[in-house]
Amino acid sequence: MTTITTEERRCILCGEASSQGIVVDADRSGSADLDLRPPPDQRDTIVHWVQECPHCGYCAPAIDEHVAGADETAKSPAYRALRSESEAPPLVVRLLCASTMLLHADRLVEATETALWAAWAADDAGAGEDARRARRRTLDLLDELRGRKEHYIADENAETLVMVDIARRAGEFERADRLLDALSAVDDPRFSALVAFQRSKVAANDTGRYTIAEASGAGP
Ligand SMILES: [Zn+2]
Repeated sequence: MTTITTEERRCILCGEASSQGIVVDADRSGSADLDLRPPPDQRDTIVHWVQECPHCGYCAPAIDEHVAGADETAKSPAYRALRSESEAPPLVVRLLCASTMLLHADRLVEATETALWAAWAADDAGAGEDARRARRRTLDLLDELRGRKEHYIADENAETLVMVDIARRAGEFERADRLLDALSAVDDPRFSALVAFQRSKVAANDTGRYTIAEASGAGP
């Protein structure tokens, strides 16, 4: 069962209190998508994965905690431009703002993860262009992360395979192909099945969403 509790939190930036949802427990059933987007029951809690101060617009993992440099980031043109995006779904804006906060604090792994969550939230809102943009941002952050020899997923090949899916879903087929080339030598039948699945979808310019179970031939 999914359990959400509500707590009053005081924003570290503006000092105002607001009610924030906290995920105590979430159902875990069904297969994740190839980009690790969790199945619906678990994903329904995404609205609580980062908090937003309704008074000043501070978005962070917890608004009563200070993300380094948050005061400056909140005043930056990039952050203010994001805040004023009226077209994008509010949850997507919140997640992208939190990602920006974390990036400016040099918390790159969390910034990457939060950008990917924004893509999932955009998927759920049917906001295709926002989803593509959030995926491209995630890929750029992943490139930066790998440039530092750091990783979002400890198994580098598994991370590359997730990047393939993010690139394909963003319509970046050449980028997906290059990533797939780096995986051709991996000697593991289950892994190879997923690589072959991605190859066929990339070749067909297919940006569709598939679960890991579907791609491994194990059903939905
Ligand atoms: Zn605030």
